[in-house]
Amino acid sequence: MTPTQATARFFNSAADLLNLPDRERKQLLTPYREIKVECSFARDDGSLATFVGYRVQHDNSRGPMKGGIRYHPQVDIDEVNALAALMTWKTAVVNLPYGGAKGGIACDPRQLSIGELQRLTRMFTQRLHDVIGMYTDIPAPDMGTNAQTMAWIMDEYSKFHGHNPGVVTGKPVELGGSLGRDAATGRGVLFAAECLFADLGKKVSDFTYAIQGFGNVGSWAARLFHEAGGKIVAVADVSGGIANTKGLDIPNLMLHVAKTKSVAGFPGSEPILADELLYQSCDVLIPAALGDVLNGQNAGKVKAKYILEGANHPTDPDADAVFAANGVTVVPDIFANAGGVTVSYFEWVQNVQEFRWEEEKVNAELRRVMQKAYADLSEVRKKYGCDLRTAAFTLAVDRVSMATRLRGI
Ligand code: NAD
Repeated sequence: MTPTQATARFFNSAADLLNLPDRERKQLLTPYREIKVECSFARDDGSLATFVGYRVQHDNSRGPMKGGIRYHPQVDIDEVNALAALMTWKTAVVNLPYGGAKGGIACDPRQLSIGELQRLTRMFTQRLHDVIGMYTDIPAPDMGTNAQTMAWIMDEYSKFHGHNPGVVTGKPVELGGSLGRDAATGRGVLFAAECLFADLGKKVSDFTYAIQGFGNVGSWAARLFHEAGGKIVAVADVSGGIANTKGLDIPNLMLHVAKTKSVAGFPGSEPILADELLYQSCDVLIPAALGDVLNGQNAGKVKAKYILEGANHPTDPDADAVFAANGVTVVPDIFANAGGVTVSYFEWVQNVQEFRWEEEKVNAELRRVMQKAYADLSEVRKKYGCDLRTAAFTLAVDRVSMATRLRGI
């Protein structure tokens, strides 16, 4: 099943509950615009490199389109399409005045020098500058990109359109980025967990955790769940995994990763295969790396009873069916990792207002948005007697279809 087929299946389960007519389904599934560009630039050795880049703008009925830019060898149009649609549903779940988009370049950023990455990013921006903007489509970081990438995009864009910090979010704080944005996706995962566990009369500190991915989302989640008293028993990144049933020392692991660029070889831990992370003995699994890692074939091997989707689209519908049968609760990506786009929205609001918020205000507002979204989700879940993913899609599809109808499109 391709990511677009999987996302469409989730959408259709919600559309069935809402009795959405075929015409509206077609309209909501079809992207507004798909763009493919060639990005050529000079390598450090003087040779010419060319990479393919994409931007898919899915829906703008609720506001400007919003979504990350990914640099990864597996980026292709199908995946970008699915991720763009997920952004439409995600911004609707947390009720931000945005639509959805996503972009990426099929490249391995680890094989490019910093100068090459900058030239590639500037070329991508040159190709896209006519179709992005603070009131049309606002990119942000995703896998393989970061605040520095956003600074280059903003600078290149401003050559064409003048000073325009709100064209991207996830910028460095020195260039109009928001305090708290770096930690926001991980913090949002923590707030989502707090909501779920409060429903069960439990706390974050009552559980053990395994985390796949130790980049922006995974490392912040590890740090924040550890600070909240959770025991992190295993983590993995692209170069390997580590485990310790007594709990990993996360502050020291952060220092180790800063020095060595990998979790592997962390003193006081057992090595595990990166692929085995998903099947570790733990209460809560947090996939925070690639998409499509849990499917009908491997879902039965997962020992965790809760899955918090830090990554986008880590679980396909076949895996969801296995989890439902095994009593595993899945907190879906379009709610669990919405902290990133929520604080991106706060960053954009600060850029529009030309006014800086304190970090305490950012974090308190994020908590408020996540708690409200969870309350909305819980209502839909009760009304339809469905799982959390179906509830999230139903809430989102209802909001977007209402906006589309009101516009009279
Ligand atoms: P990142 O590039 O900062 O980190 C990715 C991490 O995944 C790295 O530690 C990398 O080593 C690891 N990884 C890659 N392949 C792996 C593998 N096969 N096994 C184990 N680990 C592997 O990316 P990120 O920004 O943290 O994004 C991670 C996921 O979260 C993506 O799915 C992204 O779409 C999603 N997400 C990110 C944000 C955000 O604000 N950055 C917001 C919402 C969702």
